[in-house]
Amino acid sequence: MANFPRSVLEFQRQFPDEAACAAWLAAARWPDGFRCPVCGHDHAWELDTKAWTYECSRCRRQTSVTAGTVMHGSKLPLTVWFWAAYLMATHSNGISARQMWRQLGLGSYKSAWLLCAKLRRAMVNPARALLSGVVEIDETQISYRTKDDPVAGGGGRSPEGKMQVVVAVEVTENNAPGRLRLGVIPDASSASLHPFIKGNVAAGATLKTDGWSAYPGVPGYKHEPHVVGKMAAHIVLPWVHRVISNLKTWGLGVYHGLRRQHLQSYLDEFVFRFNRRKTPHAAFRSLLGIGTAIQPLTYKMLIAAEARG
Ligand SMILES: [Zn+2]
Repeated sequence: MANFPRSVLEFQRQFPDEAACAAWLAAARWPDGFRCPVCGHDHAWELDTKAWTYECSRCRRQTSVTAGTVMHGSKLPLTVWFWAAYLMATHSNGISARQMWRQLGLGSYKSAWLLCAKLRRAMVNPARALLSGVVEIDETQISYRTKDDPVAGGGGRSPEGKMQVVVAVEVTENNAPGRLRLGVIPDASSASLHPFIKGNVAAGATLKTDGWSAYPGVPGYKHEPHVVGKMAAHIVLPWVHRVISNLKTWGLGVYHGLRRQHLQSYLDEFVFRFNRRKTPHAAFRSLLGIGTAIQPLTYKMLIAAEARG
């Protein structure tokens, strides 16, 4: 997507109506022209009777331009979906359902909440590659609210609890942060940390930790413990500590406290934003459910995608 809108004015110009959104979707899904998903034929008619639907001229199969995306079967206009994905992809700290409700003038808070939840579901790519190279790892405690969702917002503060979260950040050769993973764990024991490491970090990687006794002993990894007092951990593990600090601020600022039952999905959102912080166009496409199978797999590919524009 060469000309991803850089401002809301540009966005409004590029996607003024349903037809513009549908045309963009068709081009994004079939960059080399229409392909029938059943027979592979490359010619179809656009139906007059069904919006944004093509009928294969060979096998007659009808294919909606929204099939396989998050928008399929929705009663909301495409423009609303596009705006929601744009706001979610470009607000650096994210956008709450309450903000979405007001900014898009949606009928109810609940429909805004559902819209956000559906977009957020696209934030985990099941085929994503494991972290590799040098990886900083540490755990922290995150406060959460215990009140149930969905709520209309406002109101007083609910009682808070604490939950253990493990943080892993790749460190690139230029000593810059690469990709991030976060996981909720019951405690900081080996039994909790080792499965997270195996599930998120490629074998052969070097694990940089603060020397906590539960980290060593995972087979297949080089372990580089830096035994430090708590005060010095931010020096030894600078990126993981920056992430932890940002994560805590983000949770309080955007959502007024994270809720326990959705904690992993909030963490997934934070990871999604962090890993696509330089590629809003990739974030926008992913949120709408386009080409999730061709998401950037490694940090190098992420940078390459950025260079392509
Ligand atoms: Zn066909």
